[in-house]
Amino acid sequence: ERLVSGASAQEDAEFEYSLRPQTLRQYIGQDKVKHNLEVFIEAAKLREETLDHVLLYGPPGLGKTTLANIIANEMGVEMRATSGPAIERPGDLAAVLTALQPGDVLFIDEIHRLPRTVEEVLYPAMEDFCLDIVIGKGPTARSVRLDLPPFTLVGATTRAGSLSAPLRDRFGVLSRLEYYTMEQLTQIVTRTADVLGVEIAPQAAVETARRSRGTPRIANRLLRRVRDFAQVRGNGRIDLEIAKTALELLQVDQLGLDHIDHKLLLGIIEKFRGGPAGLETVAATIGEEAQTIEDVYEPYLLQIGFLQRTPRGRIVTPLAYEHFGLEVPKA
Ligand code: ADP
Repeated sequence: ERLVSGASAQEDAEFEYSLRPQTLRQYIGQDKVKHNLEVFIEAAKLREETLDHVLLYGPPGLGKTTLANIIANEMGVEMRATSGPAIERPGDLAAVLTALQPGDVLFIDEIHRLPRTVEEVLYPAMEDFCLDIVIGKGPTARSVRLDLPPFTLVGATTRAGSLSAPLRDRFGVLSRLEYYTMEQLTQIVTRTADVLGVEIAPQAAVETARRSRGTPRIANRLLRRVRDFAQVRGNGRIDLEIAKTALELLQVDQLGLDHIDHKLLLGIIEKFRGGPAGLETVAATIGEEAQTIEDVYEPYLLQIGFLQRTPRGRIVTPLAYEHFGLEVPKA
């Protein structure tokens, strides 16, 4: 429900469907990743082989699912999509794998959440395109090997570190997605407006991009809200004035920070003179869970250099003080 969260909300899904770029050319940014994939795809096509398994990792909303779709598209095959938590038992995975057509892309989102027992079934499937299944129980049980059609696994994860080493080692291509620059986000906003058939002034696109926290999903979400505002309060065209007013009303500041970011930073500033303050203490002070602060609220603040994690606790940097127009306290 947080407007500036990179995670997909229910209302995003339908809207995003029509916005997904279909080809590598249309996919903005991530040049290194794109270039590598271009070469691998080209080579696999020349050899008439399936593409090597690909692991995409990085924060939510940066375009992992989109890229998986593009890979399938560029290879001229279908993509089946599932996710780590959706595959509870080895049998669930077997059902998915045996339904694939030769060359298909199997996309597993949140692959770090696959149960261990399922992971073990995945190893021979990835390596030799086969399934070892056990038939029967007890002393009469026997193992049978089933051949699978060759396929490309595209795994996505927000936490590459939580992936087991044997699973990680079975990917031929490992690609890390980075936060997008302002220019790239401006391009994305402009492209989305175009797809939606809304007119947007270049400065309004920049303004929306600036507040999107380096994340296309947030950029598209903010644009959608700004569009609504322009329709209700204006004539439908998004100019700078409309964009600014809408984003202010949505309480997303110049850098894409919302009231939760403010609460966290100002909490440390006001209660702990900017820190260092221990995570648990901060959590208790602002009434949020330590885990949520660490996984969800802090990464972007660390990324823009507003917050530092030190062994003694969290420290709010002079940059953040400046953002709030506050003086850094004297030591
Ligand atoms: P993830 O799987 O990493 O959470 P998605 O692939 O679902 O992210 O992307 C979220 C939204 O952002 C999609 O609607 C997509 O259209 C848009 N998007 C992501 N990356 C790009 C990009 N490079 N160019 C244009 N749009 C993008």
